[in-house]
Amino acid sequence: MTEPTHRLIPITPDTHGVDIDLVYATDRNLTGKPIYRTAHCLLLEPAETALRRAVAIARGAGLALHLFDAYRPPRAQQMLWDFLPDPTYIADPKLGSNHSRGTAIDLTLIDANGAALDMGTGFDDMTTASAHFAAGLPPAVQRNRLLLLGIMQAAGFAHIPSEWWHYELPGSRALPLIDDGTAGAPTLM
Ligand SMILES: [Zn+2]
Repeated sequence: MTEPTHRLIPITPDTHGVDIDLVYATDRNLTGKPIYRTAHCLLLEPAETALRRAVAIARGAGLALHLFDAYRPPRAQQMLWDFLPDPTYIADPKLGSNHSRGTAIDLTLIDANGAALDMGTGFDDMTTASAHFAAGLPPAVQRNRLLLLGIMQAAGFAHIPSEWWHYELPGSRALPLIDDGTAGAPTLM
């Protein structure tokens, strides 16, 4: 038996070459209020390794990653669920979000000028238009989403049907939830 490591690794612009805007540390999220008091971006070790691959693949295409969220403490998941108890868009805290397992990431692509590619909806837009391959979106939007899908899948992440911005490591569900106690985890409001 090996000890579970639960090792969460800090993701920063300097160490990973990504843009980070943790929306749950701001009032620009679906609840309209900050949920994190600290804007710490963390991923479990294998997800951090995959993120580095995604950064390199994107860079080769003249693009960079812009992160909206990564590790999310279980209590923050509960706060989101209390606000929107809809399992299509928010994982039931009883089952746990893969964000709380440290293996999920919400992100988009930015170009060399730092401008976000048009994905058709904003992050956390909980509508059918957020779904991958949603009918009726302009071809340019579909292409941008496919670009993100290709980069993330090549790096080892899997998508979920309902949210274009969400990626996670395959098999995440089998991993334990990581609770707040982790050093460096976002503290909650
Ligand atoms: Zn997500």
